[in-house]
Amino acid sequence: MSNQRIDLRSDTVTRPTAAMRKAMAEAEVGDDVLGDDPTILELERLTAEILGKPAALFVPSGTMANQLAIRCHTQHGDEILLEAQSHVNWYEAGAPAALSGVNCRTIQGVRGLFTAEQVRAELRPANIHHAPTRLLILENTHNRGGGSIWPLDQMQQVCAVAHDAGIATHLDGARLWNASIASGISEADYVKHFDSVSVCFSKGLGAPVGSALAGSVEFIQRARRFRKQFGGGMRQSGIIAAGALYALKHHRLRLADDHLLARQLATGLSKLNHLIIKPETVQTNMVYFDVLTMTAAEMAARLQQQDILMLPTASHTLRAVTSLEVDAEKINRTIDVIRQIVG
Ligand SMILES: *Cc1c(COP(=O)(O)O)cnc(C)c1O
Repeated sequence: MSNQRIDLRSDTVTRPTAAMRKAMAEAEVGDDVLGDDPTILELERLTAEILGKPAALFVPSGTMANQLAIRCHTQHGDEILLEAQSHVNWYEAGAPAALSGVNCRTIQGVRGLFTAEQVRAELRPANIHHAPTRLLILENTHNRGGGSIWPLDQMQQVCAVAHDAGIATHLDGARLWNASIASGISEADYVKHFDSVSVCFSKGLGAPVGSALAGSVEFIQRARRFRKQFGGGMRQSGIIAAGALYALKHHRLRLADDHLLARQLATGLSKLNHLIIKPETVQTNMVYFDVLTMTAAEMAARLQQQDILMLPTASHTLRAVTSLEVDAEKINRTIDVIRQIVG
């Protein structure tokens, strides 16, 4: 990829830095399926510590982390509650049905967020007609919600309704790091009320591969067996864990830079004609905007001709995500090019 290219498709496009590659090359490794890869053990220990959970498990992807959580919390024929636009519902290839045999019932959120009353409205008395509701999933930050952040008290109220009804809670925290940097609320405070949480090292943190699932010791023990069953047991995986460990130690604070760039992009775009964007809704590293005079696919194609990459996410909606691959100059060029395209 040339350095002239401006890649705003996702924060997953981040390539490992030279220092990260060095840490990976020098990583001490063992066999993690046999439980003796020291770099994996160190990453799992530090991740659990940051999240304030007793244990954590390294996994190949955020999808696997979420699906392990669903598999651990449910049995086939159960039901899970999740937001309609959530990653688990949109982008995980039908895995809840395929891997755990559960029914997904969705809650319609506003920018991905919903209320305790909405959860209460979904509760049903035990009855042989119904699939038992076992798990509620939240997402923070919410990807299709525009990188939106859950207010802590709203999250706690939603979790309390679930727990009072005997329903477990899981947080898809792929970008929890972004929520914490933007709000000043620690990761541990965000996840205190959840039974389990998933986090990604391969998004804004910039590691090439990897995610983690965290929860109680018994929960993670159970997840470890299902990880093996799902084909996620890895051997000298300390090589990739070293990238994640480096990211965790060195790249969390710099997420604030991504958030500034996203705001710069949103503010710039808000001054252009034929676009709809609400800069005040840009809370982290994601900018969603609507284009009125062409389809999102046409816009993405026009941008690509100028070496700028964005993803269409609906017929007239595009997503731009900032990361360590972009800087202020690239954002300014992006705004200029879009100005030329929309006129
Ligand atoms: C990226 C992402 C994941 C995990 O995606 P993988 O590509 O499987 O690592 C999970 N949840 C959210 C909200 C995401 O944005």
